[in-house]
Amino acid sequence: MTTTGICILAFSAFCCGILAAWLLLRYIRSRRLPDGLSEMILNSVPDMIFMVDDKFTVRRIYNADPGKLMLEPHQMIGKKITLLMDAPSGKAVEEKIREALRGNQITEAEYSIVLPQGERYFEGRFKRMRHNLVACIEHDITERKHQEMSLRRDQELLGTILDNMPVPVMVKNIDDNFKYIFWNRQCEELGGFDRNEIVGKTDFDIYGPERGALYRKIDENLLAGTKTYTAEEKYKLPDGSILDSIVKKNVVENGGQHWLLVTRWDITQQVVARNELREANEQLRMAFRAASSVPVLWDIQQDLITLKFSEFKEQYEGFRKDRKGMSAAEVCAAVHPDDLPAITELFNSLRDGSLQAGNTELRFDTTGAYKEFYDLYLAVDRTDDEGRPLSVVGTMRNITQNKQREVQLLETKQSLERIQGLNQLILNNANCGLAFITPDFKVAWSNTPSIFAGISAAERYKQGTCCFRNVFGRETPCESCPVTAAMQTRQVIVHELNIDGHDTRITATPVTDSDNSPVGTVLKFDDITLEREAARKLQAAKEAAEASDRLKSQFLSNMSHEIRTPLNAILGFSNLLIEAGDTDERQEYIHIINRNSDLLLQLINDILDLSKIEADTLEFTYDEVDVNEMLRNLEISSRQKEHDARVDIEFMESEPECTLYTDPNRLMQVLANLIGNANKFTQEGSIRFGYRRKGDMLRFFVTDTGKGIPREHLGDIFKRFVKLNGFVNGTGLGLAICQNIVRKLGGEIGVESEEGKGSTFWFTLPAEKRPAAGGKKKGDS
Ligand code: ADP
Repeated sequence: MTTTGICILAFSAFCCGILAAWLLLRYIRSRRLPDGLSEMILNSVPDMIFMVDDKFTVRRIYNADPGKLMLEPHQMIGKKITLLMDAPSGKAVEEKIREALRGNQITEAEYSIVLPQGERYFEGRFKRMRHNLVACIEHDITERKHQEMSLRRDQELLGTILDNMPVPVMVKNIDDNFKYIFWNRQCEELGGFDRNEIVGKTDFDIYGPERGALYRKIDENLLAGTKTYTAEEKYKLPDGSILDSIVKKNVVENGGQHWLLVTRWDITQQVVARNELREANEQLRMAFRAASSVPVLWDIQQDLITLKFSEFKEQYEGFRKDRKGMSAAEVCAAVHPDDLPAITELFNSLRDGSLQAGNTELRFDTTGAYKEFYDLYLAVDRTDDEGRPLSVVGTMRNITQNKQREVQLLETKQSLERIQGLNQLILNNANCGLAFITPDFKVAWSNTPSIFAGISAAERYKQGTCCFRNVFGRETPCESCPVTAAMQTRQVIVHELNIDGHDTRITATPVTDSDNSPVGTVLKFDDITLEREAARKLQAAKEAAEASDRLKSQFLSNMSHEIRTPLNAILGFSNLLIEAGDTDERQEYIHIINRNSDLLLQLINDILDLSKIEADTLEFTYDEVDVNEMLRNLEISSRQKEHDARVDIEFMESEPECTLYTDPNRLMQVLANLIGNANKFTQEGSIRFGYRRKGDMLRFFVTDTGKGIPREHLGDIFKRFVKLNGFVNGTGLGLAICQNIVRKLGGEIGVESEEGKGSTFWFTLPAEKRPAAGGKKKGDS
């Protein structure tokens, strides 16, 4: 029950009491009840009744309640009633008694009496009973008074609170044309209106017809509808600035009256903050979008994981709607089996608090396609008082492209490494050394493969060292430095020099940047020793070929001469022979013809032999040869041949017995040729020939005391078509044929000679016996 209700009830009860007492007194007076009964009835009334005369003296007291009297009841009799209360109350009571004595009407007064137990409040009703006697019926209203005072205090407090609320509060009286009946201090400050200007006025009075109509419409709609209204409104302040506010209106019913309670919160700052928050959210959303990320929220207590995929449909194929409230187990169920251990570990560590933040890469797809890769980052958001995680936030980022790039990068890296390895292999096996020299002569990089290891100078081109200092031990760059020249001229410079006994070619290639500024020089070292050697051999071969060509021409001219000479002789002397009559003369001619025929035959044999040698078809027929016998026969035949006896031809017998398994004809051919040559180039003196056993070989020799051979030609005479003297008979083929035959028979041939003193031609042959039965040597027939 409300305080007001209590008051109304109390007041009603009090009125009833007064009425009952008054009726009772009238009844008593009219009916003249017996005094004892009257008194009994009066004593049963709940209020005290004082009978007071016109001097305000208490004559009698009914229902005396000592707790509510200043004196004992009997002490009060005869005392002035006004003296029993404080002065203002006494004065009021006196006035009302006086009034009651003047007429028939009942007068009333409220007063208080200060008693030892505390102040008590009374409501007195005064009724003239006789012309000089007034009944003062005193009703104790202390309780009601206290309630009223408390109510007033409460109302004052509420008023003060409302007045001092930091929120504008205003009350309109709906029943009185929505006039303002309350306008608190905050309204004054905010609206710029003093409450005196507002209270009793309508919105039309305050804000004018337009704004007033607007507010009125809202108010009327409110009454017609839900009776409450909450909305954000922009409120224009007197200074023209606009305020963001939330307005709340409620219809309040109070004792049959209808009020409209209006509160208005200034939410300008909240709106600013909200806009900022919205902006921040938008930025965050954009950032998530830009990072191909989706926010992840995990309520650990409820085990609900929310993945906000909806905004990123294009990046997150397979997630067609927001997956709200997946449990950790459900998330795991959509993870690729290979990635399951890692995410399980992450979830467990976050859940048990052993990890504050962490991430893992995973393939997550509810459809099981697993085309996309994601990076899931999670961090503990809230914890309970004991530090146990309550919620986790994080992001899930699509990293498929990164993954693909990673794979491509890895493949590129592997391919580059393969190429690099191959390059290194190639460089290591390249037949050259390489070094990159910076403009300040630092070796930035070098590769001196093993094949180049013999050249210590090249090895000294060590990375990080100064080239002229480390390689050549100089304090300044070399005078003819190819590096400097290449950088200055921007052209390839080639130097050849001999380093450590190696013919080395250094090729300096300038390296420039896009502005054509030199950034260094590539030095390439080539060991050209073999190349040089080959060139020298090529040159020698060329010269030899040229010489051979010359010799061939010479041979041809010789041939024509050599063939023509004996032929002419044969033809000429044959004619002379026909005409000659003298026997001696004829004999002489026949001899000449024979000799020239022999010469011609020898020549043709030589040419045939040579062509066989060149065609490698010279045949060898092996047999056992008694060397001593063969040489003795050769001595005889040679002496017969050289019958002018100007030279002494002698076989120097050395071994008592010697049998050789060889081609007797070829052996004979070689010896005959050497003896023939000796004879040809020896004018006088001797020709000695023979052999010696030397280990497994027999060493044959033909020594003459002839003209000898100049030292510089010793190496040439075994070549084909070489004749040192063009005037001497011969084809220049004999020694070449001899060398070939000897080599075919398994030996070597050579010459020792001193010009003017003579020559010794020698050759060796294996001192072989006939092989065991069935065995045949090459060429054996
Ligand atoms: P030829 O058939 O022209 O003699 P050879 O090949 O037998 O050709 O000899 C080549 C050359 O070697 C001769 O022309 C000669 O100049 C030189 N020669 C060969 N044997 C002797 C020798 N015993 N003494 C000096 N010179 C010789």
